[in-house]
Amino acid sequence: MNSIEVSLPKASIPIEIQLPKLCTRCLGSGEQLAMQSAVTYDVGSIRYKDKKVKCEACKGTGRAG
Ligand SMILES: [Zn+2]
Repeated sequence: MNSIEVSLPKASIPIEIQLPKLCTRCLGSGEQLAMQSAVTYDVGSIRYKDKKVKCEACKGTGRAG
């Protein structure tokens, strides 16, 4: 078994990296806190429970488009 040397071309090949486009609303998490869609009332400190709902923009996929 001879070792085979593979000569790679040194030409600069543009590497296409396909990053998934993340949803701009949930930033890819696919869900967002319910308080983000809740109206903030100026009546002091109302603490919503950190209820996470499915992102409406990406429908829970976390990706845009
Ligand atoms: Zn989303």
